[in-house]
Amino acid sequence: MTSPALLQTVRAAYARYEGEAGQFLQEFKAAGGQVYCGAGCFGCCNMPIRLSLAEAALIASVLTPEEARKVEKHARKVIHNARTAPSEDEYVSRHRLNVGYCPLLGADGACTRYEVRPTRCRDTFSAFPAVYCQEGTWEGMTKTERREYGREVRQTLGTDGETHFIAPLEEMSEPIWASCSRAMQKAWNLEAWGDFWVLTTLAANPTFMAAIERGNKGAALREARQAGLEHPEVIEFA
Ligand code: SF4
Repeated sequence: MTSPALLQTVRAAYARYEGEAGQFLQEFKAAGGQVYCGAGCFGCCNMPIRLSLAEAALIASVLTPEEARKVEKHARKVIHNARTAPSEDEYVSRHRLNVGYCPLLGADGACTRYEVRPTRCRDTFSAFPAVYCQEGTWEGMTKTERREYGREVRQTLGTDGETHFIAPLEEMSEPIWASCSRAMQKAWNLEAWGDFWVLTTLAANPTFMAAIERGNKGAALREARQAGLEHPEVIEFA
């Protein structure tokens, strides 16, 4: 079982972020900023998501056997995509179109595991309507539409001038990554980072986690390979 102290560190880092992000959003909206994200909006839930094994362990600790099976099925599609996509762009596009929506997305468009969702799901906020977050919108734009999009983005409060996401909210989540990194080093003497669904599946694998707890990267990788869930693009050790 993953150390309760490590799981508590992740929860505490999430709680600190939620407080700071909530404060930021209040001031941002008071200054005229627009945020289009909300319950039932799930346009970005088919994006690839990277997280730490510490976060994955927290999610794995609350999943029902049925949810864990769905996450594992998704993880196997992720691995297939990593093994077959010819480029990073194609990997992302195939993830969105073929691997598909996160299995933790509910039928009503809400996240069914909102309280333990990964950092990336917490810090992605759109300053444009949801259609701009959907697969195919950017790809389907003409050159003129892309120029117009760029102009709009540069004039929109809170963006980095390149995309329509609210940049300070992503920067503010960096302390979560730092807390996870320190917690993993302290508990395991190593860090593991990678794909959300692959690491969540491996976090529920006792042989993989026993190797992690011994700080044995080689044995952990062997177990991931044995489970058919190893690929350099989806698991990295530090
Ligand atoms: S964990 Fe929740 S918010 Fe994140 S991708 Fe899955 S359904 Fe969406």
